[in-house]
Amino acid sequence: MEHEILVAGLGVTGAATAKALAKLGKSILVYEEDASAAMKSKADELKLISNIDITFVQPEILPKLIITSPGWKPNHPVLISALSRGCEVISEVEYAWRLDQKKAKPKIWVGLTGTNGKTTTVSMTEAIFLADGKRAVACGNIGKTVIEVVTGDEDIDYLIIELSSFQLHWSEHLRLQSAAILNIADDHLDWHGSFNEYLSAKKRITNGANLVIINRDDRNLNGIEFQNDQKIVKFTLDAPRPGEIGVVEELLVDRAFVDDPQEAVALAELSDINPQAPHNVANALAAMALARSCGVDSESIAKGLRNFAPGHHRIEEIANSNGIRWINDSKATNPHAANASLAAFTSIIWLAGGLAKGADMEDLVKNKASRLKAVLLIGTDRELISDALTKYAPEIPKFLIDGVSADQLMENLISKSMELAANGDVVLLAPACASMDQFTSYAHRGDLFAAKVKELIGSKK
Ligand code: ADP
Repeated sequence: MEHEILVAGLGVTGAATAKALAKLGKSILVYEEDASAAMKSKADELKLISNIDITFVQPEILPKLIITSPGWKPNHPVLISALSRGCEVISEVEYAWRLDQKKAKPKIWVGLTGTNGKTTTVSMTEAIFLADGKRAVACGNIGKTVIEVVTGDEDIDYLIIELSSFQLHWSEHLRLQSAAILNIADDHLDWHGSFNEYLSAKKRITNGANLVIINRDDRNLNGIEFQNDQKIVKFTLDAPRPGEIGVVEELLVDRAFVDDPQEAVALAELSDINPQAPHNVANALAAMALARSCGVDSESIAKGLRNFAPGHHRIEEIANSNGIRWINDSKATNPHAANASLAAFTSIIWLAGGLAKGADMEDLVKNKASRLKAVLLIGTDRELISDALTKYAPEIPKFLIDGVSADQLMENLISKSMELAANGDVVLLAPACASMDQFTSYAHRGDLFAAKVKELIGSKK
């Protein structure tokens, strides 16, 4: 049988895409390269749905349309060959956009990207929309995929979409109502090939958007030029200029969505934000801008921020015992996130290392050395951090920690931290690296940290 669409990859996105499209009567071929038992059993389940075929062998005949999964690199041979044969390669988000635009009443799409803080900010934005009584859902890289929401039965007016650079790379026609970029730093350079490619994928979120929201404090974003006809709103941790959103003493202040640009309206207080680390204030400012751009009442902003519950593995306090705080920021999978995390504390026993994904560790170590009391290093690329420490802060004690299993490794990390930490210190798991060399995911790494801390220290305050 000839298939209409090839879905490349049977991960979370691929499976959701195949199901949603099969429901619409499209004939789908899913191609997955990982023929492990777990994947095969996932495939067996999906095959029960009519209109879906699955293959673990590279297909010779390719349909005209390929919907590719975020995990697939753009230089994957199947994608290269598809493009050279004139097939179209797009993301699941792009397909969902096209479907939605054909409806009588398309939804309002707002989107956000950035190297770090996407999930947090999209969830904050959703909380603010909900506090305002709007029918909105956070989706994309968080919760449901966009295609599930667009083809689902729920009555939704606003899509608040977390978009990764991988999705944006293949989403050429997306036109958002408002598009925000939180920050840009080295990450996923192995996927994109270079920093410029990564930056241009991120910038694609703003193509044709009515309103662009960007971080004034991020030096990589400041040089970017946008379309002449686009309205730009900047946010900053400093005092806002006319047309911006920012911070004045304890207040989050709007000078962008006001009738008179000389006016300034306080929308919330710093104490409404949880956790109150500087980077999270930036996230709240972006969420506020997205909400105000869709007409959310200024009174709903503080309420929404207070309703927001931060996610696990993101500066999550696991224990506070004998004056020592144990913090799980396993989601800090790159130096930029770890930098934000280290900036939130002093006197830190830093647990770091793993897969660096091509990122440089020198600036991070150089900038944050004064906050470090000791460093415990794990994983494949730990030498990068170790070398940077030797170069910029040779006086800080550092230890290489190993273990025969993930469980044992984490136990050894916690035991060594217990030896080193004293009253007033923070033991911070913010690895600056991905986890897959020693754990199944950042969540696995964070869960093990939390479990071992509770087991060896207890969670008492
Ligand atoms: P993402 O979805 O972009 O990965 P998350 O909200 O899951 O972002 O947070 C990822 C990591 O980045 C966490 O370690 C978090 O502490 C850190 N982080 C969150 N917001 C920011 C920010 N604005 N700047 C830098 N780091 C951040």
